[in-house]
Amino acid sequence: MIRRSAFLVELLRNERRPRERLLTAQFARLQALLEHAWRHVPAYRDQWREHGIEPAQLREPADLRRWPVIDKLAMRRRGSEAFIDERITDRSELVRCQTSGSSGTPFEFFFARAHDQWRKAQYLRPYLSTGRRLGDQLLRLTANPSTRRPAFQRLGLLRETQLDVGAPTSEIEAAWRRLRPDVVQGYGSSLRPLALRTQAHALPAPRLLYTDSELLAPDCRKLLHDSFGTEPIDVFGSFETDNIAWQCERRGGYHVAIDCAVVEVLAADGRPLGPGEGTGDLVVTVLGNFAMPFIRYNLRDRAAWLASDCSCGRSLPLLDVTAGRADDLLTIGSERRSPMRLLGRFDRLGTAVSEYRVLQLTADELLIEVVPGPDWQASLEPALLDWVAREDGALRARVATVASIPRGPSGKYKAFESRLEPPAP
Ligand SMILES: [Zn+2]
Repeated sequence: MIRRSAFLVELLRNERRPRERLLTAQFARLQALLEHAWRHVPAYRDQWREHGIEPAQLREPADLRRWPVIDKLAMRRRGSEAFIDERITDRSELVRCQTSGSSGTPFEFFFARAHDQWRKAQYLRPYLSTGRRLGDQLLRLTANPSTRRPAFQRLGLLRETQLDVGAPTSEIEAAWRRLRPDVVQGYGSSLRPLALRTQAHALPAPRLLYTDSELLAPDCRKLLHDSFGTEPIDVFGSFETDNIAWQCERRGGYHVAIDCAVVEVLAADGRPLGPGEGTGDLVVTVLGNFAMPFIRYNLRDRAAWLASDCSCGRSLPLLDVTAGRADDLLTIGSERRSPMRLLGRFDRLGTAVSEYRVLQLTADELLIEVVPGPDWQASLEPALLDWVAREDGALRARVATVASIPRGPSGKYKAFESRLEPPAP
């Protein structure tokens, strides 16, 4: 906790340090990371040799464009093990992390225990920077709720109650009334059903509302603002990168954590796009994870650099993270709820499933599409059907194995899609 606090103080100070100074430090860390990966990480060493490049050729930041871009699928194909520092033979030295099922591609990765405190500080910065106070009562809706209460929470610091996003809306509403939270945090898709109900049963207004984990579509932002009386502050990150961009209290563009990552926006031909040059793929190099480096990792999200700086005075540059349509909700009877709990269960399948998608076809029928992975067996099907039954006994489901799942223009697809007409709000 003490180390995390020290990191947090450092990260919060960085927001106001001159950008040039942050970029100089960023480049030095990038050079060190590439040198490390070249020496100790087989997948990068092999790939860079094939491309005829080595870290000595990184003389200035623009040279990074010569390095190959990877993504989750490429890492899975090569095998995650090859991306781990080959000197680490004891996996218990590492923290294991499974990515959320929302992207439809289950994936597991590792980082060193020493990096964990930095990650936790990086996670907290957007919130503490934009108005969350240490003494606030926070209600968080998440797919993986924890009931563990760290010692600092018992002292009244960073108090947090976590609720399962898949819980019935009435249960979440009751907890909200009981807690009267200062701050509410959740996925857009978990707050949306509450917002739709709230118009009839007003909930105690939080001082701050944060959304994360999904792209926040403009229609969802407006609905949350109208229903809860405060405009959400959106935080952008992924499990692999942690929080790397967030809106400040001005709620404009997203400030980018250039002290934690090198963030690039690439055109379809791989050319880096600068401020004002348009939208491209968001590609991230994580500077702190030496155990399993992510170097030029394509998140398959779309973004654009903004040409102007924020009026708040933070020196971190601004990104516009392109929001698509709001994520679909699971409809059960007259209720709509977040599909995140159901999707989260797919993480357990590991390499049995390469990709999957859940479609709600009718009011009581789901179709689970599965692209089989190396360990897929038909005997897994009953488990998938059981997950659906656990959402609601009245839902029917079937499993279909498919060769691939069609992609949208960004190369992404939605892991949950509802084919029902949305009921009128
Ligand atoms: Zn700002």
